[in-house]
Amino acid sequence: MKKLLMGNEAVAHAALAAGVAVVAGYPGTPSSEVVETVAKLNAEGAAQGVHVEWSTNEKAALEVVFGASASGARGLFTAKQMGLNVASDALLSLNYVGVRGGLVLYVADDPGPISSQTEQDTRRFAAFAKVPVLDPSTPEELYSMVAYAFNLSERYGTPVIVRPTTRICHASTFFDVPGTYAARPIPDGGFVKDDSHWVIFPARSFRAHAEINERLDAIAKAPQAQEGNEPRGDESRADESRGDESRGNEPTDDEPCFNPVIEVGEDPRLGIAAGGVSAAYVREALALLQAQNESLPAYKLMQVGTPYPFPEDAALAFAEGLEQILVFEELDYVLEDEFLKLAGKYHLVYTVHGKLDERTLTRGENSSEDAIRRLADYLGVAANIETPRTPDGVQAPVRPPVLCAGCPHRASFYAVKQALRSIKPEKAAVLCGDIGCYTLGNAKPLEAVDTCLCMGAGITMAQGISIAEPGRKALAFIGDSTFFASGLTGVANAVYNQHDITICVLDNSTTAMTGSQPHPGTGATLMGAQSKPIDIEESLRALGIQCVVCAHAFNAAEAQAAAKEAIDFEGPSAVIFEGPCIQLSKPFAPPVVDAQACTGCAVCVKAIGCPAMSMQTIEGREKLLMCIDQSLCNGCNLCVSTCPFDTIGGGQDA
Ligand code: SF4
Ligand code: SF4
Repeated sequence: MKKLLMGNEAVAHAALAAGVAVVAGYPGTPSSEVVETVAKLNAEGAAQGVHVEWSTNEKAALEVVFGASASGARGLFTAKQMGLNVASDALLSLNYVGVRGGLVLYVADDPGPISSQTEQDTRRFAAFAKVPVLDPSTPEELYSMVAYAFNLSERYGTPVIVRPTTRICHASTFFDVPGTYAARPIPDGGFVKDDSHWVIFPARSFRAHAEINERLDAIAKAPQAQEGNEPRGDESRADESRGDESRGNEPTDDEPCFNPVIEVGEDPRLGIAAGGVSAAYVREALALLQAQNESLPAYKLMQVGTPYPFPEDAALAFAEGLEQILVFEELDYVLEDEFLKLAGKYHLVYTVHGKLDERTLTRGENSSEDAIRRLADYLGVAANIETPRTPDGVQAPVRPPVLCAGCPHRASFYAVKQALRSIKPEKAAVLCGDIGCYTLGNAKPLEAVDTCLCMGAGITMAQGISIAEPGRKALAFIGDSTFFASGLTGVANAVYNQHDITICVLDNSTTAMTGSQPHPGTGATLMGAQSKPIDIEESLRALGIQCVVCAHAFNAAEAQAAAKEAIDFEGPSAVIFEGPCIQLSKPFAPPVVDAQACTGCAVCVKAIGCPAMSMQTIEGREKLLMCIDQSLCNGCNLCVSTCPFDTIGGGQDA
């Protein structure tokens, strides 16, 4: 079947074609569509014998997949780059234990960053964990690498990371895919008891470290790591990769090469090395410079698709005769380090340029335009770059991220701020936020989030603040999905150590920021079955929180009273604000502003900052008056309670 697929969707097809039996992950942009595509194909009956799940967090997901691998099944784990931090405890140990069924970690990096707290580089993490990593430059290569990764994993008994970046994950192209899939059956007998293998005692770890070193050395020298003439993006390989567990114990010549070298002109002295999507930008830039100039100086280009273990032999062959190497890569200077190390180790005389001497961008995303400029300078040729413009030549204004009109989180933040005003603590309360849409509560006019660190940290940071500043109120906001992912241990810590904090759970019944995925609190699973939702209130009480108050986020009086009760409580307390995400709920009719009664004081707009509200001129009135954009308004009625003159009338059910 020929299908137009985005990179993430193609990964799902590649893994299914490779016979994957268990797919587990935790949502995180830019990786989320892999699990969703497997679930969709499963629901359509196109994938047989496959289990797919959103796990409670990345650590749980990786351990589920590793258990399946121990039974001989092929498993795929998915996460964004910071999700690997959460799963790292499991990863570093399971690499020492070794895998049985192929185990591939799909970890998507986010240069920019576009939707992350860090610009961390999973290639560095792979080296730290001593796990091979593959780095695609196109969605086609990504597809091919996933298939190869399963073979590599079983051949050497190692987990393998496939690490694309955002542009590869979200770019779309046509793929030939089988369309129907079946999981590879597990070998007879399934899990084989063997304490010397599966139980990670120190003596076993010591032996395993040697095994890891040996297999990394072998992988670095494998034919797939050597240089070739063209990158291979042959998707038919995915289907061939399916086989029994013993298949693929020896590398074969027909497997793709991911470190291609191109030589242009005679006796080149200039080298260019690139990894990931930067390799695609460099190819595009060189083609343009070639078209714009009569001739280019001789050069060699190496794409490094297997950055760890670094393909030293291939890189040595590439570097032969070169005087300079310009390295293009995003995030960290991983390849640059490797070429510098190579020069030191073999006393080579080339100079390496890149992030370290600021000849390439030291952070953020690369681009074709940037590569054209820098390569033209490096090669000493002219470049004519047309800067893309909007049709009328005007740049669109920057629009800051903001909570949606009608978002229940706005109502919850407003309730807490109002409750705090009535209490008037000596020092302003510290409001610790967390990862999710509700981080946007930081923006004016709400200013309801003072900190944001990582998943679950709001609850525990609030505890640290309450210790350091006794008497100062510390509150923590956490979403329902994050509560299950990383919040529970923080709650237990607050109860155990009796920290005087108030936990505000913003329960919108979904994982909203990453695309409305279900979680334990919803009970909906990706296998179609509905499990009993885990009740957040019961969980808090079971963990020992004695003051737990529930309120509907949009019932302003109830929400403010609930917030006040929890804040007034001495010791750990919690308030649960319930209100579904507007993506999941039916909108209500917008409220109506009485234009004659409105004084134009703007108190309402300044109180909640709903993007559907604005101050505008109305015919016959001199002052700016509050207007509601009917196309944006969700009819939540939060604004009704903010007007001191009662000029906003409640909307009606749509
Ligand atoms: S009812 Fe008011 S607060 Fe709610 S979405 Fe409409 S304008 Fe915004
Ligand atoms: S609706 Fe009420 S709060 Fe808003 S500007 Fe008019 S009078 Fe002021």
